[in-house]
Amino acid sequence: MAFQSSSAGVPEGGNRRGLGAKYGATVRKRYGRVMSVLKRTRRCPSCGSTRFRRKGAGIWACATCKYTIAGEAYDVQLEKM
Ligand SMILES: [Zn+2]
Repeated sequence: MAFQSSSAGVPEGGNRRGLGAKYGATVRKRYGRVMSVLKRTRRCPSCGSTRFRRKGAGIWACATCKYTIAGEAYDVQLEKM
């Protein structure tokens, strides 16, 4: 896989309140959903570890077995795998 390394320092969740007035209520609602998605515990599809988390935009990686996949920017379709 081409995307390993480099984006490891991206902060997870946290202090990103206030998206600015240019975003409407719909986006803000979706933003809340996105944040809950990011906090949700996921299982690695490869080894089953719960240390599987978002590594950067569209990148999900397992801290246990190093399994890495590209998903959507804010969610990953594990249900389909
Ligand atoms: Zn794993």
